Amino acid sequence: MSTETPAPDHALRGGASSSPTGERIADLVIAHIDWLISVDPSRRVIRDAAIAIRGGRFVAVGKSDDILRDWRTDQVVDGARTVVTPGFTDSHLHASFQMARGLADEANAHSFLYERMYPFEAASTEDDVYVSSQLAAIELLRHGVTSFVDPGNYHPHATVRAVMASGLRMTTATSCFDKTKAVANLLPARMIETTEACLQKTGELFERYNGAYDGRLTVSASFRGVPNASDELIVGLKALADRHRSVLQTHACFSYQTRDASTAGSNMAEVERLESLGVLDHRTMLVHAGWLEPQEIEILARRKPTLVCSPSSSLHNGYGYINIGMHPELMALGVNVSLGSDHACSGLVDIVQEMRLCACGYKEARANPRVMPPEHAVEMATINGARGAGLGDRTGSIEVGKEADFVMFDATASEWQPLYNPVSNLVYSATGNTVRHVYIAGRQVVRDSRVTLIDQDEVMREVGLTAERIASRLDMKKIVTLRWPVE
Ligand SMILES: [Zn+2]
Repeated sequence: MSTETPAPDHALRGGASSSPTGERIADLVIAHIDWLISVDPSRRVIRDAAIAIRGGRFVAVGKSDDILRDWRTDQVVDGARTVVTPGFTDSHLHASFQMARGLADEANAHSFLYERMYPFEAASTEDDVYVSSQLAAIELLRHGVTSFVDPGNYHPHATVRAVMASGLRMTTATSCFDKTKAVANLLPARMIETTEACLQKTGELFERYNGAYDGRLTVSASFRGVPNASDELIVGLKALADRHRSVLQTHACFSYQTRDASTAGSNMAEVERLESLGVLDHRTMLVHAGWLEPQEIEILARRKPTLVCSPSSSLHNGYGYINIGMHPELMALGVNVSLGSDHACSGLVDIVQEMRLCACGYKEARANPRVMPPEHAVEMATINGARGAGLGDRTGSIEVGKEADFVMFDATASEWQPLYNPVSNLVYSATGNTVRHVYIAGRQVVRDSRVTLIDQDEVMREVGLTAERIASRLDMKKIVTLRWPVE
């Protein structure tokens, strides 16, 4: 299903058209970019750079003089005083939790899941999820995210409608749990479905959406956590993902409490259990993967699933997996590790700040400034994220033939100056608030820090009304900890 007119065939192949005189023609050229961080295979960083775009793809990347000489276009954008990067991938964001910001402070893993988020989720309506997903899309785009992976909720069609209208790319899913009882506690009954129902609705999601919206939407198979999924569900979802050459995703090993719940329930650690079921390979995505036993490290190094590090959620709730995690070591062993902001409950939905938290968090935990250099953090947020979502041949870097997803940062902002090293500034000093323009497949989706395709002010009005509705439904005194008197 698609609501947009596909680009013409010649454009989708990325081929350059020529004028009768042999001059090459582009739809758009961005020229005189101060610094371009390409993340291409040779990791070129180009000064006074330009990019040419045709049919939604990069057709030339190089020096301004060369591209302005060789390409003709009706539209030239001045890139002076900007730093241009590939569009970022947020590998893990619950769009349906955007309306839960401030509702899960000072909660350990058990409290976070069973006292805060599962009750919130069980009470969420389709309208709540729609508004939450609109808010998530705005925040992601404004911070330079052009593609994200959602682990799924109970109203996936509302999320698809909201996100696709914004111009973003998304890997979507529907939420699957088929075991009410985990060692840790009971899930709300309305979140539990039969194995057959979970497999059927996932299959339907693939049929309806995979590759829709001109390929901006892809579908993954998702079970939300290892302890609450049966062997049959996990194996069945992997078969569905494989049939569609897509991703199987789940949360795994995010705190010692979930690790202990798994070993108590199955006598196997989470990664061990997944290995015993034969579902680990390069198209499996394990979110968090922080609390690992030694034999699990060996399995991950051998099977090479994508791991998603989400530093802000670990730091906010004290899960400890920056302290104990092995993401830098696993990257050195060739495992694809990407970055995710997880949810608004831990405050940030800003992939630029996640880069900093990851790079600095691991330095502090290892007491070693050489761990996790900024280049690794940028790879995690760009090409590694694209690979994890199965989009590595289409996005994640600025190179000829790829779809034109890119971000223009305002290098006149004080946090970007002085600008000796753009990769250092991007990771250690910039925030997503210095993103000025964002393009997805050559279409401008953020202009001057505001989204272009949906009405930001109208969404904010809806957010206010939805927050009132949610507050009237939940016992806010129990879940909002404001220790100072409110008058
Ligand atoms: Zn999550």
